[in-house]
Amino acid sequence: MSNRGRDWRPCTGQGVPPWVVPIVLPTPYPIGPVTVYLLVGEPLTLVDTGPATGEAWRALKRALAERSLKPGDVRRVLLTHAHHDHFGLARRFVRLGATIAAHPHERKNLRLGRSYGLLWRQLGLAGLPVARRMALVASLRMLDRTARSVRVFEPVEDGQVIPHEAGPIRVHHMPGHTPGHIGFELGSEDTIITGDTVLDGVVPNAVIDADPERPDRPFQSLAAYAATLRRLETMRPRMLLPAHGPCIADVAGQAAALRERQARRSADVRAALEGGPASVAEVIARIFPRVTLLRVFLAFSEVFGHLLELERLGAVERVSERRRERWRLIR
Ligand SMILES: [Zn+2]
Repeated sequence: MSNRGRDWRPCTGQGVPPWVVPIVLPTPYPIGPVTVYLLVGEPLTLVDTGPATGEAWRALKRALAERSLKPGDVRRVLLTHAHHDHFGLARRFVRLGATIAAHPHERKNLRLGRSYGLLWRQLGLAGLPVARRMALVASLRMLDRTARSVRVFEPVEDGQVIPHEAGPIRVHHMPGHTPGHIGFELGSEDTIITGDTVLDGVVPNAVIDADPERPDRPFQSLAAYAATLRRLETMRPRMLLPAHGPCIADVAGQAAALRERQARRSADVRAALEGGPASVAEVIARIFPRVTLLRVFLAFSEVFGHLLELERLGAVERVSERRRERWRLIR
């Protein structure tokens, strides 16, 4: 659960194909600015949109105007995933006549269909006190005001090729950070726009979510993410264009660093259970003793994600109490 400040250098400049224009937009989130990518040529395409804030919309309009373009010229919006900083402004483009494309597993989040009842119960089982839960839900409701729901979109699947004047755009399903996260390979450039899949020096958080294929269970984000990393390494692209921070040329090096950080965090979670069974809230208190409210949800997602993965690997098990769930190491 780490991220950089707002001075994080974005992916621009050398190595970025000339028809791919990175546009850096401000966000109100701790991660800092988001980079969206304008694909110049027919049809004029935007990959991700930035959040639904006045600042982001004005910055996006300014960047388009610098190229003598306006928002109504964008014919197609491709979404890497349904997090607010990536799709918040998408509905504006729908109203201006653009089509939206996203993976079908993002449907619920594109509708802002967060299940607050389920989340409330999960946070309760995790042992978060009522006051903290209330504050957390209030902050998530505030967060939901930085995106407008998208109800109609073209579902795109792994392997699908989207035509573009500058070269075909191939869709790659890269689940992990979200269940329906996709990357867009710019075929002629050996380059992939990867959203939040790999960020320089940062382990992308997987926000806790239901498994789209089995909605009664949480999505096994860490296992899916590990497979996505392996796939990216096999593809050996020349460069990744991420949504936050610098361009990534050393894919194998980043993947190795990410795996190492995740292994360390997993070891932290296991160590927090050494003294006996603990709830998610107790593990958070041990690993992130000074966590702020804003980050509690990310800490919750991260710890819960690691516990789910350790459970899948047979290393921990749940001990269900009346209104609490604790986790214990299996020796
Ligand atoms: Zn994201």
